[in-house]
Amino acid sequence: MRPDILNPLFAETDTLDGVGPKLAKPLAKLGLTRIRDVIYHLPERFVTRRAVQNLDAASPGEQIVVALTVTEHRASNGRGPYRVMATDTLGNVCALTYFGRASYSAKKLLPVGETRWVAGRLDQYGQMLQIVHPDHVVEGSGDTLQRLCEPVYSLAEGLTQPKVASLVQQSLERLPELPEWIETSQLDGAGWPGWADALALAHKSDHETARDRLAYDELLANSLALLLVRAEGRKRAGQPLRGDGQLRAKLELPFPLTGAQKRSNEEIAGDMAQESPMLRLLQGDVGAGKTVVALEAMLVAVESGAQAALLAPTEILARQHFETLQAMLRPVGVEIARLTGRDKGRAREGILMGLLDGSIDIIVGTHAIFQDSVNYRNLGLVVIDEQHRFGVSQRLMLAAKGRRAPHTLAMTATPIPRTLTLAQYGEMDVSRLDELPPGRQPIDTRVVPQDRLAEVVDGVARHVAGGQQAYWVCPMVRENEFVTEDIAAAEARYASLRERFGDDVVLVHGQLTPELKDAGMQRFASGQAKLLVATTVIEVGVDVPAATLMVIEQAERFGLAQLHQLRGRVGRGAEKSVCLLLRGDALSETGKRRLALMRESQDGFRLAEEDLELRGGGELLGIRQSGDTPFRTATLEQIQRLLPVAHADARLLMEHGDGLEGARGEAARVLLYLFERDWGVKTLRGG
Ligand code: ADP
Ligand code: MG
Repeated sequence: MRPDILNPLFAETDTLDGVGPKLAKPLAKLGLTRIRDVIYHLPERFVTRRAVQNLDAASPGEQIVVALTVTEHRASNGRGPYRVMATDTLGNVCALTYFGRASYSAKKLLPVGETRWVAGRLDQYGQMLQIVHPDHVVEGSGDTLQRLCEPVYSLAEGLTQPKVASLVQQSLERLPELPEWIETSQLDGAGWPGWADALALAHKSDHETARDRLAYDELLANSLALLLVRAEGRKRAGQPLRGDGQLRAKLELPFPLTGAQKRSNEEIAGDMAQESPMLRLLQGDVGAGKTVVALEAMLVAVESGAQAALLAPTEILARQHFETLQAMLRPVGVEIARLTGRDKGRAREGILMGLLDGSIDIIVGTHAIFQDSVNYRNLGLVVIDEQHRFGVSQRLMLAAKGRRAPHTLAMTATPIPRTLTLAQYGEMDVSRLDELPPGRQPIDTRVVPQDRLAEVVDGVARHVAGGQQAYWVCPMVRENEFVTEDIAAAEARYASLRERFGDDVVLVHGQLTPELKDAGMQRFASGQAKLLVATTVIEVGVDVPAATLMVIEQAERFGLAQLHQLRGRVGRGAEKSVCLLLRGDALSETGKRRLALMRESQDGFRLAEEDLELRGGGELLGIRQSGDTPFRTATLEQIQRLLPVAHADARLLMEHGDGLEGARGEAARVLLYLFERDWGVKTLRGG
């Protein structure tokens, strides 16, 4: 049970003043459902603005406060934004640009003929000056000018900076007094403030020690929970699965396994033969061939009379895995089925029966395979693909299936730097596929300025005319903020490419229904469509060996690890592959370095380490990429610096008896619940 002292933090966000049903959706989108979430919604950065008399005194890219007089409202034409035209005292024109529903507020805030103080970032858009989604629009200058330095929060459509700031302030007023869980010597040594002070400071200014303390809390909670789970796992018996090799002998793979694949197979089989449940991570760069390794492990389970489940993060991947595995299993004579959230009614019932009576040996699916209603006759092995996409708690739910703990094989294509492995997996055993299948040619990677787009399109046309396929990836316009803009960008690109390529081009993005997404992927995978326009949904795992060209627009906006993942979609067959990184012209130093590294290296581990460096050093606070780490507060740099300390501290706490006894133990429990690592605590009582 959650300690009562935390109750105020777990109250719903709608108990705050000014939160009605209208805000429910945007708040949910940001994951801000409770007070706790709001206090940890730390500013992405702080802006310092300059008040200017007129636009001549400001330059594009600058954060300003300026008085503008509204001249005209230009409604959106279909997909375009809503623009409010305004002029400064010298008659310079500036557009105030709004996407999506934000335009409703523009109508109210900016009546034609009136003068308003506007705060935001001045941009140059073609010939026009504009401010996209101004942070403030107010009548009198006083208020705005007071706030020349203020936090900038990530937003969702329907929320504004002042609104979020007010929710944060209200939430901070509700902080309970919590016991200190950090050891005094650590706290004093680092000069960290107490928990409540740290939160207040972190919202007020770019306060490094406060941020560090908050990050440390999260890291400590995570390490502690992982250690608790691990200790629990050691107590629960599994079943030894030895396998007689009969089914594996029937596999007719079209290629010999690499040395690394053979070695991994042996390590896995060795673990599975033991009674204590396997907890092993299979790490291998994109295209290293993890799927066949998983297949062999699943056959070991089936040979031993047990079932195996393969969990994929998306419908697209689940479907792809199912098809690949089904084809490979044809000569073996093993029953394999697929289960996703879309399977309903009879079909679903049939699969559930098959799992229960054991007639299905291998199940492939999304998280649907570990719902309560799904029961197995004897689940012996759980394989989790693209492991980093799942939370530990989801992993545990699968592990809880069956009377005895199943063996777990987690796979990841994300090359995780050593420091992060510890954070993500605690103390798992690791097998590495550090050798690519033979015959792979290096991918020819080139950086091309975005303004040579027309040439790039011609290149794609030649490529397609030559009978090959290509991916075209559209960028994230802004992280978190205007998701609709990303989709709009992808749709606009799709529309223009369609004019040239007709039915040869398909569009896939995250907001399509699963049916449409699948249909699009299917047309591309089968070769009917030649060009796939996509947002980053294709980042993980998609395998279409005939696709040999990858175009990535505004590549500088992606992290290195992500670019590497995207590039890994090509170069999967024997054909020479090309990756074109289109870059905008306002390239930061970090952006430049990233693209240069992509040209230089194809080694996922090296790129991942460099990514950490670049992001840690070069960029501002808290830039997160979803799925990168299991943390919402700690940045990559902080993880690297603080995790070893937190981990050692957690071990010490555990060694004082794993019941988390004593005053510090009590405080540590509060911490676990605060960060919702309560699955760690639950194992305490379960055992
Ligand atoms: P990933 O590790 O990224 O999941 P996959 O398992 O999808 O990689 O494998 C990538 C491609 O390489 C697949 O088309 C697969 O059939 C092929 N492949 C896997 N192992 C080998 C091998 N030993 N020799 C040649 N091709 C292989
Ligand atoms: Mg894969």
